[in-house]
Amino acid sequence: MMTSLPEGSVVVVAGGAGFIGSHLCERLLTDGYQVVAVDDLSTGDSGNLSHLSATDGFTFVEGDIVLPSAIEQLTDVVDPHDVSAVLNFASPASPPAYLQRPLDTLAVGSTGTWNLINYAVSCSARFLMASTSEVYGDPLEHPQVETYWGNVNPIGERSVYDEAKRFSEALVAAHQRSAGLDARIVRIFNTYGPRMQPDDGRVVTNMVHQSLAGKPLTIYGDGSQTRSFCYVTDEVDGIVRLLQSDVVRPVNIGNPNEFTIRELADVIAEVLGADLSIEYLPLPSDDPKVRQPDISRARDLLGWEPKVQLRDGIRQMVESLQ
Ligand code: UDP
Repeated sequence: MMTSLPEGSVVVVAGGAGFIGSHLCERLLTDGYQVVAVDDLSTGDSGNLSHLSATDGFTFVEGDIVLPSAIEQLTDVVDPHDVSAVLNFASPASPPAYLQRPLDTLAVGSTGTWNLINYAVSCSARFLMASTSEVYGDPLEHPQVETYWGNVNPIGERSVYDEAKRFSEALVAAHQRSAGLDARIVRIFNTYGPRMQPDDGRVVTNMVHQSLAGKPLTIYGDGSQTRSFCYVTDEVDGIVRLLQSDVVRPVNIGNPNEFTIRELADVIAEVLGADLSIEYLPLPSDDPKVRQPDISRARDLLGWEPKVQLRDGIRQMVESLQ
């Protein structure tokens, strides 16, 4: 069942200048909503939103949701009565980005999420939490179903991101139970497409840019680890469907087609017409060995499944760079 947001109402997108956040802002404006993006530009980029700056109904606020000042700025630019939804996409998200900012990552997933939930409550707005497949850690169940509790090393390097997102989910669930918060939780799996920062360090970005520069593709470990890659427009469509639904349990949104990292290198070299040469580098600690979403819940409850196949998505990403 769909419980749509009121037409033309205001949606606040924290992390709106990020990769997925900026695509989400664009989609919500196309759907007729007014959008207020808030971002501290620590890993986001105002350039991701420059094409929207002149669009009617779009406002950008530079601020860090960990600080009360960002919430005050939001209250200054938009009447709380007009806000129908608050979406939390604020966090460093690529492994090198969150490993460089461990404490900021923990702060935004705890204090930042809490501040934003309180703001949503003060607006009587729906809250959507951008969670992650990383809540499953290095999974012992495969593919990952939403009912799986995960396998996270609580003191490992990656825990700053994984546990921050798990804490955000716990905060949302507690507010759903005790304060009647109208909330949604999306668990986002590996996503790629235009506007990824060229130096974000993720595997698709690295390999596409290495291939374009005629350099060897870097594979960490032996390349037998797997990931499942979702094109950003598919990802955003799933997120919007969840936002407009009455599904209050977490939902995996990702592409279930699973590739080894070695297979990904083959696909990228093939799409770019490059000769495949590989440089093997050490595997980072706690790197998950497998990852593949079970998307039955999204199929059954949201009528969603991804449409863009990996080769087509990589082609579109490369075209956006040229
Ligand atoms: N990886 C790789 N080469 C790179 C970057 C990453 O082989 O240049 C590997 C990484 O170790 C992981 C997978 O590719 O096993 C996906 O990494 P990414 O950083 O994109 O995202 P993750 O799924 O780990 O959050």
